[in-house]
Amino acid sequence: MTIINTEETIKLLTDLVSIPSPSGNTNEVITFVEKFFAELDIETKRNRKGGLIATIEGSDSSRHRMLTAHVDTLGAMVKEIKPSGRLKIDLIGGFKYNSIEGEYCQIETSSAKVYTGTILMHQTSVHVYKDAGKAERNQENIEIRIDEKVHTAEEVRALGIEVGDFVSFDPRVEVTPSGYVKSRHLDDKASVAILLQLIKQLKTEKITLPYTTHILISNNEEIGYGGNSNISPETVEYLAVDMGAMGDGQSTDEYTVSICAKDASGPYHYELRKHLVRLAEDNKIEYKLDLYPFYGSDASAAIRSGHDIVHGLIGPGIDSSHAFERTHKSSIENTAKLLYHYVQSNLVEQ
Ligand SMILES: [Zn+2]
Repeated sequence: MTIINTEETIKLLTDLVSIPSPSGNTNEVITFVEKFFAELDIETKRNRKGGLIATIEGSDSSRHRMLTAHVDTLGAMVKEIKPSGRLKIDLIGGFKYNSIEGEYCQIETSSAKVYTGTILMHQTSVHVYKDAGKAERNQENIEIRIDEKVHTAEEVRALGIEVGDFVSFDPRVEVTPSGYVKSRHLDDKASVAILLQLIKQLKTEKITLPYTTHILISNNEEIGYGGNSNISPETVEYLAVDMGAMGDGQSTDEYTVSICAKDASGPYHYELRKHLVRLAEDNKIEYKLDLYPFYGSDASAAIRSGHDIVHGLIGPGIDSSHAFERTHKSSIENTAKLLYHYVQSNLVEQ
């Protein structure tokens, strides 16, 4: 029986979520991952988009496999400096303003100065605003209160803050004694942590993989094009490791690995999906088969951009995704186990 070091994965996960990395500003987190691979003596290269590719030679180098998870997260950008000294923001990625209302944030200037603030409704004080509860949570009403003595746009600019500066949200990561991980950006840093820990384990156990395997740490998934390039012509199978979506009618939960049969992009490769289910059953890994209604992955992005590959999607179940996310360590463990067996399995028969 495989021993998966889930505690180490969770430690890695808390490190990853604590590094701000909204899509478009991921250099720091990619550097962290690069160092992780370097310590394992695994060579990596960066693509021009800023993503990272690690390659592990396998017994068969004529046919390749690729696995991907993304380190970029939701975030925002300063759109306007208001005359009041508050900031108007534009969102990066797909989410609603109400999911960041009240959140602490960081504003990073182009000269890498960092200021803190809070994302608030303009009409927050119930002592002043009659419509505080009813006013729409939108770009007009949501603003950032900077933790500096600024009351005019000029004073804000004097800090070095400008239109185009990146805004990241406080992850507020917490691991509970009951085994839950509560944090923003579990999508998809939970999967990145799982993949990194898996590579470390394969290295420690001196396992030779059956096929040359590429690990793509993508940095533009939330905006749609992180994993659609740098796929070697030898690549046959391409597996995205990304969160399973939970909600009404969904079978995905916080305790099992979710295997996606279909999302908004259409069905995933049937044979690969069945292969993943078989691997889960043979190895007594708890899984759920599911469909995600409003979802696309780096694997479907790769298909759309014209790559002739067998594509699949699995990942840990994440509650309240793109908002107040939570998962349980057993979901992380089941996902890790399935990946451990998958990378050592044969390619699906065509
Ligand atoms: Zn994701």
